[in-house]
Amino acid sequence: MSRVIFHSGEDIPLELHKVRIVQKLSLVPIERRLEAVREAGNNTFLLKNRDIFLDMLTDSGVNAMSDKQLAAMMESDDSYAGSETFTKLETKIKEIFNMDYFLPVHQGRAAENILSQVFVNPGQVVPMNYHFTTSKAHIVLNGGRVEELVGDEGLKVTSNHPFKGNIDLDKLNALIAAEGRDKIAFVRIETGTNLIGGQPHSLQNLTDVSAICRKAGIMLVFDASLLADNLYFIKTREDACKDMTIREIARKLADLSDVMYFSARKLGCARGGGICTNSREAYLKMRELITLYEGFLTYGGMSVREIEAITVGLDETMDEDMVSQGPLFIAFMVNALVKQGVPVITPPGGLGCHIDAKRFLPHVPQSQYPAGALASALYLVSGVRGMERGSISEQRNPDGSEVYSDMELLRLAMPRRVFTLSQVKYAVDRIVWLYKNRDLIGGLKFVEEPQMLRFFFGKLGTVTDWQATLVAKFRADLGDSL
Ligand SMILES: *Cc1c(COP(=O)(O)O)cnc(C)c1O
Repeated sequence: MSRVIFHSGEDIPLELHKVRIVQKLSLVPIERRLEAVREAGNNTFLLKNRDIFLDMLTDSGVNAMSDKQLAAMMESDDSYAGSETFTKLETKIKEIFNMDYFLPVHQGRAAENILSQVFVNPGQVVPMNYHFTTSKAHIVLNGGRVEELVGDEGLKVTSNHPFKGNIDLDKLNALIAAEGRDKIAFVRIETGTNLIGGQPHSLQNLTDVSAICRKAGIMLVFDASLLADNLYFIKTREDACKDMTIREIARKLADLSDVMYFSARKLGCARGGGICTNSREAYLKMRELITLYEGFLTYGGMSVREIEAITVGLDETMDEDMVSQGPLFIAFMVNALVKQGVPVITPPGGLGCHIDAKRFLPHVPQSQYPAGALASALYLVSGVRGMERGSISEQRNPDGSEVYSDMELLRLAMPRRVFTLSQVKYAVDRIVWLYKNRDLIGGLKFVEEPQMLRFFFGKLGTVTDWQATLVAKFRADLGDSL
């Protein structure tokens, strides 16, 4: 991309697409939002879309599609076996990633189910930079355990390290020496490391990890779900790669992995997913489980329309203009908040903007869920829906005691090509107002707590009636604004 410089000196991300289909949004008054957040038990997963203005819950399955993707969906070949639509995707995977074998799955976690069932034996360990919820769950379900080897910098909230998702090579070597090859199911590296703030790894790091794995005879599995953002960060933050094209970087990353899988809800702006490999042996081991859990080998639980959308979406992702959009909008939002003193994860990563609730609400103890309280308060004052990524997202110990998470984050995801800059500025404005009034925000307590996945279904109440106070202050400061 030839960088666009504004003569005013302002650093503004410029949309490199135009909008041709729109969806009406509603911004209901704060009084209705107070009712809605109470009905939802202060759990943003339980809010209804009609009460939400900007939905920043996730980037999964909600990125905007292109005109070419929609057009391709109209010409899909709907056959159970041998569909031409599937052959197009298989050919595109070979073209971009040079992978000979492609297995379709209905979404990313389905790939994790199959990989874990085939390659993880009880008592084995899977070293990785950092876990993702579903990847860890499938490994554990199959009797394995996870070892997180991300560099120390990765767990610092504020940093200027360009690649906080890198695996620490010394830790990896030490683990291999301690466990021995047979105890290691495979090494997993997650691109655009989700749970530590969408932070990237470098091409150099994957090169080094791959060399260590090949020398030790250990399979390297690459979770490419958040590849788009990571490609952009490699191109713009890694000196040795600044003259490479996005396509060249993608190809290099694939060459270094033995198995690559992805959620097409993120990569390719569609839905579905897949597993790619050059190993016939690995392919044959996984093939039967695809037919058992997903569907026949030429659809894997996806509709042919989705498969057409993935083929075009992957091709469009191999473009610097396209992959720049998420990171540039996120950087705009992060930098605007940093400027106003709001505590956020730095440097800006992919996926979204992550607010540090521990520092935003130092007066709310972890036992009263600061990230959950912040998610509830932000929805209340803005209609912006984020996702709690803190202790509510953990599960209690068997004895009932709480597991407190390393970080208490409010994640505000930035679906690609969905929001305009003025919408992002609105979100920033309301977050800054909330920060100025942060003393008014109090804690939460569970009123309905399911044993499993409490962050999806649980309901919480406020410890004191701080929400009414917050609404009154909003009205006093902002008049009859929505
Ligand atoms: C979302 C995600 C997955 C799981 O994909 P789904 O399509 O949601 O099942 C796996 N890994 C990473 C890094 C993800 O972000």
